Amino acid sequence: MTQKRDIFDDHFHDECGVFGVFGHPEASNLAYLGLYALQHRGQESAGIVSSDGTDLHLHRAMGEVEEIFQPHVLAELPGSLAIGHTRYSTAGDKALLNAQPIMIDCNKGKLALGHNGNLTNAAEWRRKLEHRGSIFQTNSDTEVIVHLIARSQARNLSGALGDALNQVEGAYSLLVLTQDELYAVRDPRGFRPLVLGKLPLPAGGEAWLVASETCAFDLLNAQYVREIEPGEMVRISRSGIESIHFAPEKPHQQCIFEHVYFSRPDSIIFGRSVNESREMLGRLLAKEHPADADIVVPVPDSGVPAAVGYALESRIPFRMGLIRNHYIGRTFIEPSQAIRNFGVKLKLNPVRNLIDGKRIVLVDDSIVRGTTSRKIVRMVREAGAIEVHVRISCPPTISPCYYGVDTPTREELIASSNSPEEIRRFLGADSLGYLSLPGLKQAVNDTEGKFCTSCYTGNYPTDLVQLEVREGHAKTGDTLSGNLSEARQAERPVAVQHED
Ligand code: SF4
Repeated sequence: MTQKRDIFDDHFHDECGVFGVFGHPEASNLAYLGLYALQHRGQESAGIVSSDGTDLHLHRAMGEVEEIFQPHVLAELPGSLAIGHTRYSTAGDKALLNAQPIMIDCNKGKLALGHNGNLTNAAEWRRKLEHRGSIFQTNSDTEVIVHLIARSQARNLSGALGDALNQVEGAYSLLVLTQDELYAVRDPRGFRPLVLGKLPLPAGGEAWLVASETCAFDLLNAQYVREIEPGEMVRISRSGIESIHFAPEKPHQQCIFEHVYFSRPDSIIFGRSVNESREMLGRLLAKEHPADADIVVPVPDSGVPAAVGYALESRIPFRMGLIRNHYIGRTFIEPSQAIRNFGVKLKLNPVRNLIDGKRIVLVDDSIVRGTTSRKIVRMVREAGAIEVHVRISCPPTISPCYYGVDTPTREELIASSNSPEEIRRFLGADSLGYLSLPGLKQAVNDTEGKFCTSCYTGNYPTDLVQLEVREGHAKTGDTLSGNLSEARQAERPVAVQHED
């Protein structure tokens, strides 16, 4: 039987990564390397558009960056400007048609767009635009921006972009390439990250870079300059850098899950080291939910920094009691005779001599459906653990994301309809402890309420999403008050101890 590997990856999935280059003779090679560093943000398709000053050149394909961009492909992408995009489908289906960047030739000239995020009013705009005669070629929400740019009466592209973006709602970190300009834009709430960097040129001067995460700059020995601000449009041209504030200010809603799980720990996101946040998540988790145990074991790779923090705070030794196989292919053949926990075993294997006879604190970053966590707990017990205390470095995930993250439906989220005690029993753990919402905010130093926490509270910062949530509840028979009580539940530390 052939199966996709992500069946066993019980996480929210990151959306997309974007990378832009202005003023480097090897722009498409740099875009390729930048996308390679951002591969964790999307593995379904990737694309690069380059500009040689007179024309745009595009290559997009399904698959991972390394397999798509062979040297002969990059040779067909000439010029000193480029944008790249790597995608995990969040809106629109998974076909190549929806791969990005999107390239168009409209009344504003030739343009290419790469978008990280999700527009919450795209369906409404699509209906309106089709009614007015627009013909859509993809079913991606990004194409709405393209049609709104084309319809703008503004004389220049920055004006048309501002017009278009002021009509859409939701999350966008957006790169736009023309023949001789690069635009980097972040929505006024700043849901998704976007950073500016520069790279000195051997002949003098410098190239400008834009990326979803700073880890892409590190690979190129480039310098991190600053974040693109929420509500800022940065226009990079031969005349230099221009910063345009194109939208009225809105309360910031930076995605807190970037610090919990999505971003690489070696990145600086929203001005703060991701690794520092994750270690602090683990330290606060240890304070809120201590455990009488012999070793702290992370669920690798994403659980490692929080487990380090837990071990440092609790003074319980840290041990790599689970080893991850990094070389799982896209598909694999399962033997016809069923092997227990087969999918999880492909990915993780316990180190029996570390675990046997020990009381374990098992640290992970999140529980989504719970099915994978249950298999891991069972696997650790089969390796000889005498107690398993599960610790999760964020609050219970009770609601889907509408801002550019691939999430299961609300019904599939185990914490949306099960109490922590029910989840503990489902996992087969001796105890279960989730970090509280105040703990999570403290770990990312959110003193001013600038982070989105909607997937933990069920309260969304955009009006349309609130409507969608009510509709969703009507479908499932839930009530809004149920939603609010869950929000209150997420406010306090959640811990469950097995009493047997
Ligand atoms: Fe991030 Fe959750 Fe907000 Fe989505 S709902 S932007 S995953 S914090």
